[in-house]
Amino acid sequence: MPKTRAARTPGAATRAVHAGEVHHGIGGPVAVPVVQTSTFTFKSVEEMKRWAEGRSRADIYTRYGNPTLRVAEAKLAALEEGEAALVTASGMAAISSTLLTLVGAGEEIIATRYLYGGTYRLLRDYLPRLGLRVNYVETDLGGVEQLVTPRTRVLYTETPTNPTLHVVDLRRAVALAHRSRLTAVVDNTFATPVLQKPLTLGFDAVVHSATKYLGGHSDIIAGAVVGRRALVERVRQTVIHFGGSMDPWAGYLLIRGIKSLEPRVRRQSETALTVARFLEKHPRVARVHYPGLRSHSEHRLARRQMQGGFGGMLAFDHKNGLAGARRFCQRIQVFLLAASLGGAESLAVLPLYTSHYKMSPKELAAAGVSPGTVRLSVGLEDPADLIADLKQALG
Ligand code: PLP
Repeated sequence: MPKTRAARTPGAATRAVHAGEVHHGIGGPVAVPVVQTSTFTFKSVEEMKRWAEGRSRADIYTRYGNPTLRVAEAKLAALEEGEAALVTASGMAAISSTLLTLVGAGEEIIATRYLYGGTYRLLRDYLPRLGLRVNYVETDLGGVEQLVTPRTRVLYTETPTNPTLHVVDLRRAVALAHRSRLTAVVDNTFATPVLQKPLTLGFDAVVHSATKYLGGHSDIIAGAVVGRRALVERVRQTVIHFGGSMDPWAGYLLIRGIKSLEPRVRRQSETALTVARFLEKHPRVARVHYPGLRSHSEHRLARRQMQGGFGGMLAFDHKNGLAGARRFCQRIQVFLLAASLGGAESLAVLPLYTSHYKMSPKELAAAGVSPGTVRLSVGLEDPADLIADLKQALG
């Protein structure tokens, strides 16, 4: 971090740019070097022995650690205000490794019902095969205490939720979790640490699909876990042994993305609010899901817990259901028809055919997804061009 004369803690944008980087003065590179290697030489057999005995922290193999990845981790810890961070090969690697670290066979998780479809499938199809039980609550967290048993270990949540932007009360989630001695974990992908910092509210761990806003350019698959050091180091061991480690080149692109996170998210939040207000007045739109709108059922909560914006993600229900939503998606030109989110390009998808594919009507209803729901990821284009595109595609 740069030395400042005034005794001032650097702001979030400054931390994103500088954290984890060492500039050695005249002649050194400003950009972070990519240490693109799978393995590292030992200085001596004695050092090899010291490593085996846990007395040396030398890098020996990139699945265990790498200098480029450590810079990304320092930035994420600084941004989320956590003690430590860990980067992973994908958001799902971060989520699965965190849960497998915290919960074992015969133990239980309580999760909010509205989750990214991939996370929901992990909880529905894979964790039960390992003897882990998952119980669900609504996003208002009603009934958590009644579901806690002596075997419950984790309260897992996501806010705002993918794809229908429900907002979970982070303070209430932490209070409920800690009253029952549960580890509180939240997926902070949609909000990013620019808009909310769950660790500062008491959460034990934050997970991310760094593929999205943190990477910011739709060119990597990446994940992250941030939280208390002891917890992060336990998850690191799980990642090392299950193999979900990040590649250094992805780490370099993640670092590059994080440097511009703050201005990107602020601009995307502003444009998303403009887009949401436009859609809300459009006769072909039945409902807009965006926490920045007064009409959103959790708007007051979102205002309390999100700072400086409500994020770049929104969804809307087409008045003509699936047929209308399909037609809209066929006609868009500036928005691209693509899954994922958080990049420079605005994207549109039908959750029915992407994150929530092959789900029963009951599961879709429980996830708040209707066949006519369209999810939009607002990018960095001129807001006027996005509005014009929406107008023509809905027209
Ligand atoms: N969490 C959320 C909220 C997501 O939207 C996604 C992916 O879309 C994930 C986790 C999974 O991340 P990844 O695709 O990087 O594994």
